[in-house]
Amino acid sequence: MVLPGTPASPLRVAIIGSGPAAFYTAEHLLKRDDLVVETDMFERLPTPFGLVRGGVAPDHQKIKSVAAAFDKVAAAPRFRLYGHVEFGKDVTLADLREHYHQIVYATGAQTDRRMGIPGEDLRGSHPATEFVAWYNGHPDYQDCRFDLRQERVAVVGVGNVAVDVARILCRTPEELVATDISEGALEALTQSRVREVYMLGRRGPAQAAFTNPEIKELGELAGADIVVHPEEVQLDELSRAALEKGQDRATQKKVEILRGYAQRTPYGKPRRLILRFLVSPVELVGDAEGQVVAMRLVKNELHATAAGTLQPKPTDKTEELPVGLVFRSVGYKGVPLAGVPFNDSWGVILNDKGRVLDPETQRPVLGEYAAGWIKRGPTGVIGTNKPDAAETVVAMLEDLAQGAVLAPAHPEAAAAEALIRRRQPNYVSYTDWRRLDELEVARGRAAGRPRVKFTRVEEMLAALGLA
Ligand code: NAP
Repeated sequence: MVLPGTPASPLRVAIIGSGPAAFYTAEHLLKRDDLVVETDMFERLPTPFGLVRGGVAPDHQKIKSVAAAFDKVAAAPRFRLYGHVEFGKDVTLADLREHYHQIVYATGAQTDRRMGIPGEDLRGSHPATEFVAWYNGHPDYQDCRFDLRQERVAVVGVGNVAVDVARILCRTPEELVATDISEGALEALTQSRVREVYMLGRRGPAQAAFTNPEIKELGELAGADIVVHPEEVQLDELSRAALEKGQDRATQKKVEILRGYAQRTPYGKPRRLILRFLVSPVELVGDAEGQVVAMRLVKNELHATAAGTLQPKPTDKTEELPVGLVFRSVGYKGVPLAGVPFNDSWGVILNDKGRVLDPETQRPVLGEYAAGWIKRGPTGVIGTNKPDAAETVVAMLEDLAQGAVLAPAHPEAAAAEALIRRRQPNYVSYTDWRRLDELEVARGRAAGRPRVKFTRVEEMLAALGLA
């Protein structure tokens, strides 16, 4: 068998998704000078970049500049974007097997984890992921409504997403207008009556998942004082011992920053951001109309598990926090793809170093791979996806060398394009996306903002003359 990867027979790879893991996978493949690879990237939305567009906070524009690196990948002649083409609907797994030698799933983690407590579905209780997608202009979430007339809000969890949500709720209109937050969210947040935002950590300050630059930023908000209870940042014996033993400078610094906040005298800013530790929500309390009005919390202590990690254990002390809006920010979760083996409890595609595994035999499924959050779970920063994608590409190229690739009946690029054109005549190419990008930036320039996003699919297609 003649292996694909030559000018006469390029290795044809379909990548599902267009976030960081997808682009890093394409980059690792396209930069090989010993192989001719063609990558076709499939994205359900007309816009690429996944969480770089729809997740990274609008007041963190510098992080979004990674898109310039993705532009360079897309400039390769053997790269194509098929935007506004949905896997499982416009193209199926069977179609891809007919047209590609290898398929990579890089679809991220598109839903949220639940707290599993009574009252979680009351009006006014939302996943943080929906709020994030809404303020970032994701078309699927533009009809969401969050009652920002409420004065007190709780954000459950102390990861970086919780920090983003709390910070956006505390930003002043002047701060928000300098970002690319969606116009709808800008208007709603400008009229917000939110006065107090609680961030709730179930473990102590030394176990908080947020990172130091993020927590420092919360202490520098123009319109909100940060409040930390001194007794909640005193380390218990176990945390102190773990910190001393581990000599973990970043965690020591984190605890120092939090202790500094506990000693601050509030400046009297219009809003307060209150960081709590060692508390878990056990119930959301609703009124007669089913609207959340309070949250019952239990105070926790830490205990060491057999594996040595410190976990929360409820005490008999409880309290009630009056809040009218709740965001649970307890982690993202992957969504299964039609016909692709999935581990439901981990929320990831069943895989070994990126090779998709058959659940029955635990052996690799020929020609199918995973990269990014759908492979390893929702952890790490954008850059973490680069080595993650590299590992998947190593597996792909090892398999290629063994001849373990699909044998598509129609491996020519033109055949795939013809199929996609039939299924989705209004597909969005990378050139189309660059036009959309320029239009958004131009709208932003006119408004003195970095960009004004299109937030509806029809609007995007109309702007491109595709509708
Ligand atoms: P995360 O970092 O895993 O944080 C999840 C938080 O939820 C933790 O504080 C966790 O506490 C808590 N939690 C989980 N289950 C809970 C429960 N039942 N009750 C109460 N609390 C619960 O996840 P994330 O914030 O969604 O972020 C995802 C990834 O994206 C992370 O790697 C993050 O660093 C990254 N990210 C980075 C940035 C940035 O660089 N600026 C911004 C956003 C996101 P335990 O620790 O006790 O489990």
